[in-house]
Amino acid sequence: MKQSNLSRLMDYAGSRRVLLYLSWILSALSAIVALVPFWYIWRIIHAVFLAAPHFEQAGHLAVYGWMAVLFAIVSVLVYIAALMCSHMAAFRVASNLRKELVRAIAKLPLGAAEEFGSGRLRKIINESSAATETYLAHQLPDKYGAIATPCGLLLLLLVFDWRLGLLSLVPVVLGFLIMSAMTGKNMERKMKEYNNALEVMSNEAVEYIRGVPVVKTFGQTVFSFKRFKDSIDSYEKWVIAYTKGLRLPMMFYTTAINGVFAFLIAGALFFTAGGVTNAFLLNLLFYIIITPVISLTLTKIMFMSENGMIVADALERIDSVLTLDPLAEAAAPQTPKDNSVELENVRFSYDGKTDVIKDISLSIKPGETVAFVGPSGGGKSTLASLIARFFDTKSGSIRIGSVNVKNIRKDDLMNTVSFVFQNSHLIKASILDNVRMGKTNASESEVMEALKAAQCMDIIGKLPDGVHTMFGTKGVYLSGGEQQRLTIARAMLKNAPILILDEATAFADPDNENKVQAALSELSKGKTVIMIAHRLSTVANVDRIYVIENGRVVETGSRNELIEQDGLFARMWQDYQTSVQWKVAKEGVR
Ligand code: ADP
Repeated sequence: MKQSNLSRLMDYAGSRRVLLYLSWILSALSAIVALVPFWYIWRIIHAVFLAAPHFEQAGHLAVYGWMAVLFAIVSVLVYIAALMCSHMAAFRVASNLRKELVRAIAKLPLGAAEEFGSGRLRKIINESSAATETYLAHQLPDKYGAIATPCGLLLLLLVFDWRLGLLSLVPVVLGFLIMSAMTGKNMERKMKEYNNALEVMSNEAVEYIRGVPVVKTFGQTVFSFKRFKDSIDSYEKWVIAYTKGLRLPMMFYTTAINGVFAFLIAGALFFTAGGVTNAFLLNLLFYIIITPVISLTLTKIMFMSENGMIVADALERIDSVLTLDPLAEAAAPQTPKDNSVELENVRFSYDGKTDVIKDISLSIKPGETVAFVGPSGGGKSTLASLIARFFDTKSGSIRIGSVNVKNIRKDDLMNTVSFVFQNSHLIKASILDNVRMGKTNASESEVMEALKAAQCMDIIGKLPDGVHTMFGTKGVYLSGGEQQRLTIARAMLKNAPILILDEATAFADPDNENKVQAALSELSKGKTVIMIAHRLSTVANVDRIYVIENGRVVETGSRNELIEQDGLFARMWQDYQTSVQWKVAKEGVR
């Protein structure tokens, strides 16, 4: 059976679970104590009535008054104690949830974490665990308080005059009937519809924002985002219909709950047909004072179901991370024997259905430089990320130094394979620390060496605090090529024997391009290099080219061999030559 959300949260509270129970008890106690002042108010009214018309003879009024104040204060103090307990437990739960999430994320295949998106992961870690915190620290104790109040009220109501007590319960019963009609099965379905409409709308909003550059570039109007508009329209229609549907029951509910005086007065007139007694008047006054508490409590309870839904949603999001399969660690890890890379009948698919890599076998000797080329979407990047074990293959094997990557310890693999991707992963830290991620114990002078070798000195020179400048802060702007050079410096420092390079597709300026190329060739020295080449200008000197199309290696050989074969590469080469000539011609005209 599926564990209930609450019991799951309780498990995360660990030894502080007791504090949660305690907080509920204290909160309920505080709610009961909060009713005691009403009893003293009754006694004050009682004393006044007894003394009438000689009011100055009414005794103990001040004492009763102070007692009422005292109990009100005690109630607040007990409530504070309840909140302290609940917070201590809730913080533990949120911290345990965060730890578990971070632990799970650390075990994920790099590719899976990447696919999830760092923004979304951060949101789940922070916001979803915070939602449980609010629920446990405030909402649950309040719920028990809200349950205790009507119980205490019931006692108070029936003790003084049970007839009036019953009368003031009539609106409560009516209110409950209307409320349950509102929140029944029908409501659950409606709530789902509401959430769906909201989700469709926010998805469309994201698409819309993503598309803004396109809209601006091509001068289109907002009407090209018809789906976004449609989703807003349907949401609007739904919300209006829903609100209209609730109008009648809500009206009856509010009237019933607030109409308690009407029942009391009608009852009083009926009961006093034979004459009024002081005692009855006293009780009536008391009931008139206390009944507003009823409607307050009921309204509180009504909004409580919403909180449960929020927490259920938060847990669902948390589970979307926790249930992802972690990268399996090798039972008997081995170390790679050399720097060779071999792929044997590798198949892979992202969605479990269509294979994007179809039966690829290839073998790269230590120290060789090879390039993957081919049409976009052919599978070059996917293949490269499989070698770095961003994902595990569906079938077939990938061996580094004759050892299957699945049998290499994660740390060893990371020390053996470096990658420099187009979307350079710089974090919000100093340039020094960013580069040092390649080798955490590197000295500052080692970092400087790496920066020099990666042609980064001009970047460092123009930054306000040199290598100590924080990346990602205001005013620190680095172009794509500059960022890539910094990640090359990082890889340089790491000095792993196998290098996977995702060559950048476009550079804004030739100077940057030359520097990146120089940095890459420095980095590649003496290493096994696998390069994803997007432009054919860079593949002249590689040992071998693999032409990858539609998930398969369709041609293999050196550049000249491939040009002679008159296949896909030859055609791509032809196109490339034409574009170079075109470029030269254009420059010539200028
Ligand atoms: P290339 O690097 O040759 O341009 P990719 O390896 O990026 O090709 O893509 C190969 C195929 O896999 C494409 O059809 C692409 O749409 C798909 N693909 C790439 N990345 C993902 C991903 N993260 N999730 C699902 N499909 C993907």
